[in-house]
Amino acid sequence: MKLLEDRIQRDGVVKAEGVLKVDGFLNHRIDIELLDAMGAEFKRLFADAPINKILTIEASGIGIACMAARHFDNAPVVFAKKAQSINLDGEMYRTRIQSFTHGKVFDVIVSKKFIGPDDHVLIIDDFLANGCALNGLLEIVEAAGATVEGIGIAVEKGFQPGGASLRERGYHLESLAIVDAMDPTTGQITFRQAGEP
Ligand code: 5GP
Repeated sequence: MKLLEDRIQRDGVVKAEGVLKVDGFLNHRIDIELLDAMGAEFKRLFADAPINKILTIEASGIGIACMAARHFDNAPVVFAKKAQSINLDGEMYRTRIQSFTHGKVFDVIVSKKFIGPDDHVLIIDDFLANGCALNGLLEIVEAAGATVEGIGIAVEKGFQPGGASLRERGYHLESLAIVDAMDPTTGQITFRQAGEP
């Protein structure tokens, strides 16, 4: 999506260790018009899927998911909550996710009230790197007996293995921008072009 790529080129900051900072428009200050356009693009990409729920993970996925939901007939948004340690009461789906940016393992929970076998779920997140966050969300959808209709990502880092692995497993994964290379010294960012594997 050219609008997002241009914004990443303009305002993204390449950090060491493969981290891209986008806190000027996505992760801290949020550009609502951009998120709205991203929501419209997700709708175009998943137009044929009978999506009735959007699942994301706190915190950065929530804004993107909520704006996208406006383009999916206001489908309810459920976000997985992160907790360092929790007492389980049996009413939660739970999984563990290794955080790419914080290096910690989080317990992640979703109430059983909010996702179930009738749901056709679009999973949305801000970044896809190694795929740990998405694998956790996929486990939760599976445990709930719901259907994964697709996965929508704002920024995929194509030089990390998450995206390739999910596509190999047959998921309909759409990333609005795929960064194939980035250089912390020069700040140069290279995007995958449409049609490139
Ligand atoms: P994964 O679980 O795929 O390894 O990493 C995805 C999660 O880590 C996302 O939810 C995102 O919050 C965070 N993340 C991974 N890489 C980056 C990055 O380069 N920049 C930012 N801002 N967040 C990232």
